[in-house]
Amino acid sequence: MKAVQYREIGKPPEYVDVEDPTPPPGGMVIKVLASGLCHSDEFVMSLDEKTFREAYGYELPMTLGHESAGEIVELGEGTKGVEVGDRVLVYGCWGCGVCDLCARGNENLCRRGMTSPGFAEPGGMAEYMAVDSVQHIVPIEDLDPIKMAPLNDAGLTPYSIIKRFRHKLRAGSTAVVIGAGGLGHVAIQLLRRMSDAQGIALDLKGPKLQFAKEVGAHHALVSEPAAAKKVLELSSGRGADLVLDFVANGPTPDLAVACGGIQSAVVFAGAGSGHAKVGFGIVPWEMELSNSLWGTRLELMELVEMAKREPLEIRTTPFPLELAPMAYRMLHEGKIDGRAVCVP
Ligand SMILES: [Zn+2]
Ligand SMILES: [Zn+2]
Repeated sequence: MKAVQYREIGKPPEYVDVEDPTPPPGGMVIKVLASGLCHSDEFVMSLDEKTFREAYGYELPMTLGHESAGEIVELGEGTKGVEVGDRVLVYGCWGCGVCDLCARGNENLCRRGMTSPGFAEPGGMAEYMAVDSVQHIVPIEDLDPIKMAPLNDAGLTPYSIIKRFRHKLRAGSTAVVIGAGGLGHVAIQLLRRMSDAQGIALDLKGPKLQFAKEVGAHHALVSEPAAAKKVLELSSGRGADLVLDFVANGPTPDLAVACGGIQSAVVFAGAGSGHAKVGFGIVPWEMELSNSLWGTRLELMELVEMAKREPLEIRTTPFPLELAPMAYRMLHEGKIDGRAVCVP
Protein backbone atom coordinates (compact mmCIF):
# COMPACT_ATOMS: atom_id res chain seq x y z
CA MET A 1 0.00 0.00 0.00
CA LYS A 2 0.97 3.66 -0.19
CA ALA A 3 1.96 5.63 2.91
CA VAL A 4 3.57 8.92 3.90
CA GLN A 5 6.66 8.37 6.00
CA TYR A 6 9.26 10.44 7.74
CA ARG A 7 12.37 8.46 6.77
CA GLU A 8 15.45 10.60 7.25
CA ILE A 9 16.19 13.08 10.06
CA GLY A 10 15.79 16.64 8.81
CA LYS A 11 14.36 15.62 5.41
CA PRO A 12 10.74 16.15 4.31
CA PRO A 13 8.33 13.20 4.57
CA GLU A 14 8.03 10.90 1.54
CA TYR A 15 5.22 9.15 -0.30
CA VAL A 16 6.31 5.50 -0.47
CA ASP A 17 5.24 1.85 -0.85
CA VAL A 18 5.04 -0.15 2.37
CA GLU A 19 3.64 -3.53 3.38
CA ASP A 20 -0.07 -3.85 4.13
CA PRO A 21 -0.79 -4.09 7.88
CA THR A 22 -2.28 -7.24 9.44
CA PRO A 23 -4.90 -7.02 12.20
CA PRO A 24 -3.44 -7.62 15.69
CA PRO A 25 -5.31 -10.04 17.99
CA GLY A 26 -8.09 -8.05 19.69
CA GLY A 27 -7.58 -5.24 17.18
CA MET A 28 -8.39 -4.48 13.59
CA VAL A 29 -7.31 -2.94 10.30
CA ILE A 30 -9.13 0.10 9.01
CA LYS A 31 -9.23 1.56 5.54
CA VAL A 32 -8.21 5.14 6.20
CA LEU A 33 -10.79 7.67 4.98
CA ALA A 34 -9.10 10.79 6.38
CA SER A 35 -6.03 11.73 8.38
CA GLY A 36 -5.21 15.23 9.66
CA LEU A 37 -1.84 16.98 9.50
CA CYS A 38 -0.67 18.54 12.73
CA HIS A 39 2.00 20.98 13.90
CA SER A 40 3.19 18.28 16.29
CA ASP A 41 4.22 16.19 13.26
CA GLU A 42 6.31 19.16 12.21
CA PHE A 43 7.69 19.49 15.73
CA VAL A 44 8.79 15.85 15.74
CA MET A 45 10.35 16.21 12.29
CA SER A 46 12.29 19.24 13.53
CA LEU A 47 14.01 17.34 16.36
CA ASP A 48 17.69 16.46 16.11
CA GLU A 49 18.53 12.78 15.92
CA LYS A 50 19.54 12.39 19.58
CA THR A 51 16.36 14.00 20.95
CA PHE A 52 14.21 12.12 18.41
CA ARG A 53 15.63 8.73 19.36
CA GLU A 54 16.63 9.11 23.00
CA ALA A 55 14.29 11.68 24.55
CA TYR A 56 11.22 10.55 22.62
CA GLY A 57 12.18 6.97 21.83
CA TYR A 58 11.09 7.25 18.20
CA GLU A 59 12.41 5.23 15.30
CA LEU A 60 12.54 5.66 11.55
CA PRO A 61 10.74 5.16 9.28
CA MET A 62 7.72 6.78 10.92
CA THR A 63 4.33 6.53 9.19
CA LEU A 64 2.71 9.87 10.11
CA GLY A 65 -0.90 10.67 10.95
CA HIS A 66 -2.35 10.79 14.46
CA GLU A 67 -5.78 12.17 13.56
CA SER A 68 -7.38 9.34 11.64
CA ALA A 69 -10.84 8.19 10.69
CA GLY A 70 -11.66 5.08 8.70
CA GLU A 71 -13.78 2.03 8.08
CA ILE A 72 -13.02 -1.35 9.65
CA VAL A 73 -12.08 -3.84 6.92
CA GLU A 74 -10.60 -6.73 8.89
CA LEU A 75 -10.80 -7.93 12.50
CA GLY A 76 -7.99 -9.59 14.44
CA GLU A 77 -8.31 -12.90 16.25
CA GLY A 78 -10.81 -12.68 19.13
CA THR A 79 -11.85 -9.07 18.39
CA LYS A 80 -15.32 -8.43 19.74
CA GLY A 81 -17.69 -5.47 19.95
CA VAL A 82 -17.17 -4.05 16.46
CA GLU A 83 -18.01 -5.21 12.94
CA VAL A 84 -16.38 -4.96 9.54
CA GLY A 85 -17.91 -1.86 7.92
CA ASP A 86 -18.09 0.21 11.14
CA ARG A 87 -16.75 3.74 10.75
CA VAL A 88 -14.51 4.90 13.56
CA LEU A 89 -12.09 7.50 14.83
CA VAL A 90 -8.76 6.17 16.07
CA TYR A 91 -8.03 7.52 19.55
CA GLY A 92 -4.41 8.71 19.54
CA CYS A 93 -3.26 7.80 23.06
CA TRP A 94 -2.44 4.15 23.52
CA GLY A 95 -1.56 3.70 27.19
CA CYS A 96 -0.41 0.60 29.04
CA GLY A 97 -3.96 -0.03 30.28
CA VAL A 98 -2.59 -1.18 33.65
CA CYS A 99 -1.49 1.94 35.57
CA ASP A 100 -3.78 4.07 37.75
CA LEU A 101 -3.96 6.88 35.17
CA CYS A 102 -5.01 4.48 32.42
CA ALA A 103 -7.55 2.99 34.85
CA ARG A 104 -8.94 6.50 35.26
CA GLY A 105 -9.25 6.88 31.50
CA ASN A 106 -6.21 9.14 31.22
CA GLU A 107 -4.31 7.00 28.73
CA ASN A 108 -2.97 10.31 27.42
CA LEU A 109 -1.00 10.64 30.67
CA CYS A 110 -0.07 6.95 31.11
CA ARG A 111 2.64 6.54 33.75
CA ARG A 112 4.56 4.13 31.55
CA GLY A 113 4.35 6.54 28.62
CA MET A 114 1.75 6.10 25.91
CA THR A 115 2.49 5.16 22.35
CA SER A 116 0.68 6.92 19.54
CA PRO A 117 -0.22 5.84 16.04
CA GLY A 118 1.51 8.37 13.79
CA PHE A 119 4.57 8.54 16.05
CA ALA A 120 5.70 5.33 17.76
CA GLU A 121 3.19 3.14 15.83
CA PRO A 122 2.31 3.43 12.12
CA GLY A 123 -0.31 6.15 11.69
CA GLY A 124 -3.09 7.04 9.32
CA MET A 125 -1.18 8.69 6.47
CA ALA A 126 -1.60 5.45 4.59
CA GLU A 127 -4.25 3.49 2.77
CA TYR A 128 -4.68 1.09 5.70
CA MET A 129 -3.85 1.24 9.38
CA ALA A 130 -3.72 -1.32 12.20
CA VAL A 131 -5.42 -0.47 15.51
CA ASP A 132 -4.34 -2.55 18.50
CA SER A 133 -7.58 -2.66 20.47
CA VAL A 134 -11.31 -1.90 20.36
CA GLN A 135 -10.55 0.34 23.34
CA HIS A 136 -8.78 2.77 21.02
CA ILE A 137 -11.62 3.60 18.67
CA VAL A 138 -14.72 5.78 18.81
CA PRO A 139 -17.61 4.98 16.42
CA ILE A 140 -18.73 7.89 14.21
CA GLU A 141 -21.59 6.18 12.33
CA ASP A 142 -22.43 8.25 9.23
CA LEU A 143 -20.65 11.47 10.24
CA ASP A 144 -18.25 12.89 7.63
CA PRO A 145 -14.82 11.29 8.27
CA ILE A 146 -12.99 14.32 6.82
CA LYS A 147 -14.65 16.63 9.34
CA MET A 148 -14.35 14.10 12.16
CA ALA A 149 -10.67 13.09 11.84
CA PRO A 150 -9.36 16.42 13.24
CA LEU A 151 -11.48 15.93 16.38
CA ASN A 152 -8.84 13.39 17.47
CA ASP A 153 -6.42 16.15 18.39
CA ALA A 154 -7.47 19.58 17.06
CA GLY A 155 -10.81 19.01 18.82
CA LEU A 156 -9.86 16.84 21.78
CA THR A 157 -6.97 18.95 23.09
CA PRO A 158 -8.90 22.24 23.45
CA TYR A 159 -12.02 20.38 24.64
CA SER A 160 -10.11 18.70 27.44
CA ILE A 161 -8.50 21.99 28.55
CA ILE A 162 -11.76 23.94 28.50
CA LYS A 163 -13.46 21.18 30.54
CA ARG A 164 -10.62 21.29 33.06
CA PHE A 165 -10.96 25.06 33.55
CA ARG A 166 -14.62 25.66 32.72
CA HIS A 167 -15.26 26.70 36.33
CA LYS A 168 -13.20 29.83 35.66
CA LEU A 169 -15.43 30.91 32.79
CA ARG A 170 -18.55 32.75 33.86
CA ALA A 171 -20.54 35.53 32.23
CA GLY A 172 -18.17 38.48 32.31
CA SER A 173 -15.10 36.25 31.95
CA THR A 174 -12.61 36.42 29.12
CA ALA A 175 -10.77 33.62 27.37
CA VAL A 176 -7.79 34.24 25.11
CA VAL A 177 -6.74 31.86 22.35
CA ILE A 178 -3.22 32.35 20.99
CA GLY A 179 -2.92 30.84 17.50
CA ALA A 180 -6.13 30.53 15.47
CA GLY A 181 -4.93 27.50 13.51
CA GLY A 182 -5.97 23.84 13.61
CA LEU A 183 -6.54 23.63 17.37
CA GLY A 184 -7.22 27.31 17.99
CA HIS A 185 -10.12 27.62 15.56
CA VAL A 186 -11.87 24.70 17.26
CA ALA A 187 -11.09 26.16 20.71
CA ILE A 188 -12.81 29.43 19.74
CA GLN A 189 -15.98 27.52 18.82
CA LEU A 190 -15.88 25.31 21.91
CA LEU A 191 -15.56 28.37 24.15
CA ARG A 192 -18.79 29.70 22.62
CA ARG A 193 -20.54 26.37 23.14
CA MET A 194 -19.25 25.59 26.61
CA SER A 195 -19.17 28.98 28.32
CA ASP A 196 -20.49 32.53 28.44
CA ALA A 197 -16.98 34.01 28.31
CA GLN A 198 -15.96 36.46 25.62
CA GLY A 199 -13.34 34.94 23.33
CA ILE A 200 -10.33 36.90 22.10
CA ALA A 201 -8.09 35.37 19.42
CA LEU A 202 -4.47 36.41 18.90
CA ASP A 203 -2.63 35.59 15.70
CA LEU A 204 -0.44 37.09 13.03
CA LYS A 205 -1.77 39.99 11.02
CA GLY A 206 -3.93 39.20 8.01
CA PRO A 207 -6.36 36.44 7.05
CA LYS A 208 -5.94 34.43 10.29
CA LEU A 209 -7.59 37.25 12.27
CA GLN A 210 -10.53 37.40 9.88
CA PHE A 211 -10.78 33.61 10.07
CA ALA A 212 -10.84 33.71 13.90
CA LYS A 213 -13.79 36.10 13.82
CA GLU A 214 -15.60 33.97 11.25
CA VAL A 215 -15.49 30.97 13.57
CA GLY A 216 -16.76 32.93 16.54
CA ALA A 217 -14.08 35.03 18.27
CA HIS A 218 -15.61 38.18 19.77
CA HIS A 219 -12.36 40.02 19.09
CA ALA A 220 -9.24 39.22 17.08
CA LEU A 221 -5.96 40.98 17.80
CA VAL A 222 -2.49 40.93 16.31
CA SER A 223 -0.26 38.72 18.45
CA GLU A 224 2.34 41.20 19.74
CA PRO A 225 3.35 42.43 23.21
CA ALA A 226 0.84 45.32 22.99
CA ALA A 227 -2.01 42.79 22.73
CA ALA A 228 -1.86 42.15 26.49
CA LYS A 229 -2.85 45.76 27.19
CA LYS A 230 -5.76 45.47 24.75
CA VAL A 231 -6.91 42.27 26.46
CA LEU A 232 -6.85 44.14 29.77
CA GLU A 233 -8.98 46.93 28.27
CA LEU A 234 -11.45 44.52 26.69
CA SER A 235 -11.87 42.70 30.01
CA SER A 236 -12.53 45.86 32.08
CA GLY A 237 -9.09 45.67 33.64
CA ARG A 238 -9.45 42.06 34.88
CA GLY A 239 -7.29 40.32 32.34
CA ALA A 240 -8.22 36.95 30.87
CA ASP A 241 -9.52 34.15 33.12
CA LEU A 242 -8.26 31.45 30.77
CA VAL A 243 -5.43 31.71 28.23
CA LEU A 244 -4.84 28.89 25.76
CA ASP A 245 -1.47 29.15 24.05
CA PHE A 246 -1.52 26.86 21.04
CA VAL A 247 1.85 28.14 19.84
CA ALA A 248 3.93 28.01 23.05
CA ASN A 249 7.01 29.06 21.16
CA GLY A 250 9.19 32.18 20.99
CA PRO A 251 7.45 35.15 22.63
CA THR A 252 3.98 33.60 23.08
CA PRO A 253 4.38 32.11 26.61
CA ASP A 254 5.31 35.56 27.99
CA LEU A 255 2.41 37.08 26.09
CA ALA A 256 0.07 34.38 27.44
CA VAL A 257 1.06 35.17 31.02
CA ALA A 258 0.77 38.93 30.38
CA CYS A 259 -2.83 38.42 29.19
CA GLY A 260 -3.92 36.48 32.31
CA GLY A 261 -5.41 38.01 35.44
CA ILE A 262 -5.71 37.09 39.12
CA GLN A 263 -6.79 33.44 39.61
CA SER A 264 -6.56 32.82 35.88
CA ALA A 265 -5.31 29.66 34.22
CA VAL A 266 -2.69 29.74 31.48
CA VAL A 267 -2.20 26.56 29.47
CA PHE A 268 0.68 25.89 27.10
CA ALA A 269 -0.89 23.51 24.63
CA GLY A 270 1.33 24.01 21.58
CA ALA A 271 4.16 21.60 20.89
CA GLY A 272 6.77 24.34 21.17
CA SER A 273 9.83 24.80 23.31
CA GLY A 274 8.72 28.13 24.85
CA HIS A 275 8.39 28.56 28.59
CA ALA A 276 7.40 31.14 31.17
CA LYS A 277 8.65 32.15 34.60
CA VAL A 278 6.48 31.72 37.64
CA GLY A 279 7.11 32.90 41.20
CA PHE A 280 6.03 35.15 44.05
CA GLY A 281 5.17 38.57 42.67
CA ILE A 282 6.20 37.59 39.13
CA VAL A 283 2.77 36.50 37.86
CA PRO A 284 -0.71 37.64 39.00
CA TRP A 285 -1.84 36.10 42.31
CA GLU A 286 -2.99 32.50 42.18
CA MET A 287 -2.42 32.21 38.45
CA GLU A 288 -2.33 28.51 37.50
CA LEU A 289 0.17 27.62 34.80
CA SER A 290 0.08 24.21 33.18
CA ASN A 291 0.57 22.31 29.98
CA SER A 292 -1.64 19.77 28.28
CA LEU A 293 -1.45 16.56 26.32
CA TRP A 294 -4.53 15.48 24.39
CA GLY A 295 -7.50 14.16 26.41
CA THR A 296 -9.33 10.96 27.27
CA ARG A 297 -11.20 8.65 24.94
CA LEU A 298 -14.40 9.46 26.83
CA GLU A 299 -13.85 13.15 26.05
CA LEU A 300 -13.42 12.24 22.38
CA MET A 301 -16.77 10.41 22.56
CA GLU A 302 -18.36 13.50 24.11
CA LEU A 303 -17.01 15.62 21.26
CA VAL A 304 -18.46 13.23 18.68
CA GLU A 305 -21.84 13.47 20.47
CA MET A 306 -21.53 17.25 20.43
CA ALA A 307 -20.79 17.19 16.69
CA LYS A 308 -23.82 14.94 16.10
CA ARG A 309 -26.15 17.40 17.80
CA GLU A 310 -24.76 20.51 16.16
CA PRO A 311 -21.73 20.21 13.87
CA LEU A 312 -18.58 22.08 14.79
CA GLU A 313 -17.27 24.12 11.91
CA ILE A 314 -14.02 22.30 11.36
CA ARG A 315 -12.29 24.08 8.49
CA THR A 316 -10.58 21.40 6.47
CA THR A 317 -8.44 21.53 3.38
CA PRO A 318 -8.37 18.03 1.82
CA PHE A 319 -5.29 16.77 -0.02
CA PRO A 320 -4.77 13.45 -1.80
CA LEU A 321 -2.30 11.28 0.12
CA GLU A 322 0.48 11.72 -2.45
CA LEU A 323 0.40 15.49 -1.86
CA ALA A 324 0.96 15.19 1.90
CA PRO A 325 4.63 16.30 1.61
CA MET A 326 3.46 19.50 -0.11
CA ALA A 327 0.69 19.97 2.48
CA TYR A 328 3.29 19.77 5.28
CA ARG A 329 5.32 22.43 3.51
CA MET A 330 2.23 24.67 3.30
CA LEU A 331 1.48 24.05 6.98
CA HIS A 332 5.02 25.06 7.84
CA GLU A 333 4.60 28.27 5.85
CA GLY A 334 1.32 29.10 7.61
CA LYS A 335 -0.65 28.77 4.37
CA ILE A 336 -3.37 26.43 5.69
CA ASP A 337 -6.64 27.74 7.14
CA GLY A 338 -7.93 25.33 9.77
CA ARG A 339 -6.81 21.75 9.24
CA ALA A 340 -5.16 20.05 6.29
CA VAL A 341 -6.55 16.53 5.94
CA CYS A 342 -5.18 13.76 3.74
CA VAL A 343 -7.68 11.58 1.97
CA PRO A 344 -6.10 8.33 0.75
ZN1 LIG B 1 -1.42 16.75 16.88
ZN1 LIG C 1 -0.83 3.38 31.77
